[in-house]
Amino acid sequence: MTDDLRRLVRLQEILAASEELAERIAGIPAEVARLEKDLLAAEERLEKGRAGLQDLQKERRKLEMELMGIESKIAKYQTQLLEVKTNKEYQAMLKEIETCRAEREACDEKILLDMEAGEQRGRELRAREEALTQQRRDTAEAKTRLDGLLHQLHRETEALREERRKVEESITPGHLDSFLKVARQRKGLALVAVRDGLCGGCHVRVMPKLVQQVRRATGLIACDSCKRFLYVPEEPAGDGSAPADSPEP
Ligand SMILES: [Zn+2]
Repeated sequence: MTDDLRRLVRLQEILAASEELAERIAGIPAEVARLEKDLLAAEERLEKGRAGLQDLQKERRKLEMELMGIESKIAKYQTQLLEVKTNKEYQAMLKEIETCRAEREACDEKILLDMEAGEQRGRELRAREEALTQQRRDTAEAKTRLDGLLHQLHRETEALREERRKVEESITPGHLDSFLKVARQRKGLALVAVRDGLCGGCHVRVMPKLVQQVRRATGLIACDSCKRFLYVPEEPAGDGSAPADSPEP
């Protein structure tokens, strides 16, 4: 493998890594927006809960007023009861009092239910307030973390840009141009390894004669099928005749 090919392989890695970094950088504002949206939704739910509790308290005050009205009606009827002249009037008055008492009972019942519901809501609200406090803290922490990540990703991007510049400078200009042209056409994958006689890009068999040419070439040799440039990866130390998982110590 020539130095140029080695540099092109590195350049391809740099370009892929830069693209991945750019995608991660682009995803951060969306993540911040999601955190803020979730927090806002939790705040709105709490506000709704508070409004619900206020409605309940208003309803209870209304019922208490109603109850006072019924009580005074009963008191009035009881006074009038002493002043009626006929048995018929007396019976009618008793019936009125009876009706009022039933109303009073129903009203008492409603007030009790409202009180219980109010206590339940109050407990829920307190729990929600605590959860919201925690969520505010978590959101702030996550935003700080994302901000730090963003800076780090920018630094990594800058480092890759610098490395790319150096690598590109050291590649034969003709090779660099050919590589960049194919990279644009092939979604960044312009240089592929030949493994087990197959092109790493299109997986079509590469003729042994072409593999030999790739091994010896000083220039760029393209796959006949997909036109990506080929290289034969360097063998790791050893003759490669034994399987990788050989039990030999
Ligand atoms: Zn191919």
